[in-house]
Amino acid sequence: MRVDVLTIFPEFFNEVFDFGIIRRAKLADIVEINVHDIRLFATDKHRMVDDRPFGGGDGMVLKPEPIFAAIEMLLGTSDRDKYADGTRVVLLSPQGKPLKQPVAQSFVNDCSHLVLICGRYEGVDERVNATVVTDEISIGDYVLSGGEPAAIVLVDSIVRLLPNALGSDTSAENDSFSDGLLDSPHYTRPAEFRGMKVPEVLLNGNHAEIEKWRQEKALEKTRLIRKDLLEGANGEM
Ligand code: SAH
Repeated sequence: MRVDVLTIFPEFFNEVFDFGIIRRAKLADIVEINVHDIRLFATDKHRMVDDRPFGGGDGMVLKPEPIFAAIEMLLGTSDRDKYADGTRVVLLSPQGKPLKQPVAQSFVNDCSHLVLICGRYEGVDERVNATVVTDEISIGDYVLSGGEPAAIVLVDSIVRLLPNALGSDTSAENDSFSDGLLDSPHYTRPAEFRGMKVPEVLLNGNHAEIEKWRQEKALEKTRLIRKDLLEGANGEM
């Protein structure tokens, strides 16, 4: 998968993709991640990327021209109907479709080139959304100062699902949400720490019993704090 991030703050991404699973996936050529400065695509002499909103009101709005130019450089067109198969252009936005595990999985399934547009200030000129954007994605019902943290969250959630990204000793199958439940609790050595003991069942080597215990715990925890998952609220795409 190739990922291109458009931002007015490229330094925001310094090193953020250079750790753990994402770093390994980059080194193994499972994913390529490029960050582009929207400002470099501004053509006026002050390289303006934002301007005051028509109709008045607070704040600034990201201008359409540099974003269209960046998309045209990357994709050869800014008309979403003409993108190559497997190309998705995502606008990070609190008004977007909520990011859930099935949404991340859907990008893994049918996207080979992902372009992410990070908004700032009051947001992005609506004509970007109307023409170049194929998906508007929100990472939750709260407002961030910019799309950059949301882009990092989206990339991380997708990359760890790419084939072979997790390596052979780990798997996403039992992670929270993958099977509609939260994950079960995890323990490591020591078996007793400050008087707190690891549940006996995990120490006895009986894999069937361990699996049963994990399923029970996952269900218990999900019922307690995320009942909505049991009602299928996370399954929709
Ligand atoms: N005025 C806008 C918020 C702008 S916040 C509104 O009320 O809808 C500035 C930028 O931060 C947005 O353009 C978007 O790119 C990003 N952003 C803020 N909250 C986000 C969220 N929950 N998910 C994804 N991106 C978000």
